[in-house]
Amino acid sequence: MKRVVAKMRKGATKLEVAQALRLMECRKLEARFVNHPDGCMVVAEGEVKDLSWLEGLAGVEEVVETKSAFPLASRDVRATPTTVSLAPGVQIGGGEVAVIAGPCAVEDRDQILTTAESVKASGAKALRGGAYKPRTNPYSFQGLGSEGVSLLEEARSLTGLPIVTEVMAPEDVEWLLPHVDVFQVGSRNMQNFSLLKTLGRVDKPVLLKRGMMATIDEWLQAAEYVLAGGNSNVILCERGIRCFEKRTRNVLDLSAVPLIKSLSHLPIVVDPSHGTGCRNLVPSMSLAAIAAGADGLIIEVHPNPEKALSDGDQSLTLSEFALLMESVRQLASVLPGRVKEEVLCSSASVA
Ligand code: PEP
Ligand code: MN
Repeated sequence: MKRVVAKMRKGATKLEVAQALRLMECRKLEARFVNHPDGCMVVAEGEVKDLSWLEGLAGVEEVVETKSAFPLASRDVRATPTTVSLAPGVQIGGGEVAVIAGPCAVEDRDQILTTAESVKASGAKALRGGAYKPRTNPYSFQGLGSEGVSLLEEARSLTGLPIVTEVMAPEDVEWLLPHVDVFQVGSRNMQNFSLLKTLGRVDKPVLLKRGMMATIDEWLQAAEYVLAGGNSNVILCERGIRCFEKRTRNVLDLSAVPLIKSLSHLPIVVDPSHGTGCRNLVPSMSLAAIAAGADGLIIEVHPNPEKALSDGDQSLTLSEFALLMESVRQLASVLPGRVKEEVLCSSASVA
């Protein structure tokens, strides 16, 4: 079984796309049309031998055959790294290290506004904050819901920072759409396929966290769900995986960074807060992530971590975050162009 991707020419007509789809279906290929950063494409799956008929078709620019389970996320179909825009002038990918910071959960007006102003002053490019929290225990603080979203919007008006917040249910996507800048899909929902399909139909970026027990291939196939739906704005987020080790909350898999870079064009950020669960491990793991080639970080910050309603142990104080940002800037400045693409790809190519 192979996958075939027909990249359509810019300006290909609807008729040409429809014809490519129809001819694939006639040859018993399961075909679908998708949008991609490189333009529209037709993706098909099935037994194919000769593809010359497809190559010669009007509107078709290039035909790529791949065995990848995640063709649209893979480098087979797009070799150039993708840059995802969170807001005008704010992007993930493209060489700069972008830092997203804020509390685990929005708790009250003062907490989110104080944090937003402070992380902005320290150099954060976006504000995070959960309004809907996926808590292990049903009696734990579940987030402020829509009130939390309004507070995030107030913080955005105050600071200009785009807002990143978690969505847990497909039915919340539509109403949240005009209010948020980036939809976070949490670790526990990485394989919530109806959520991924719904997010595939919107045009806002999706920050897809790695499932705590997900392999790299499962994670990239989850990203493929969003891409196959037509939303090409996916940012991957390594946040640690489960292991026998008890001293850290998770094991932060930094090898995922160069590995993802070798397999996929999608940008990747690292979350050392959930990756370690320990405030004092966050700075070193942040720097290690950047050295490994991450496009950015997402870090939990709280004005008073001792009093936080969730994840206080792993949250930096405002001043700790300011200090970390100094080191991030210093490190980024001595990694001109960061780890070179060729080095990342040749050393990490895995069958
Ligand atoms: C979070 O970002 O607060 C969160 C719940 O993260 P994760 O889904 O990685 O556990
Ligand atoms: Mn958290």
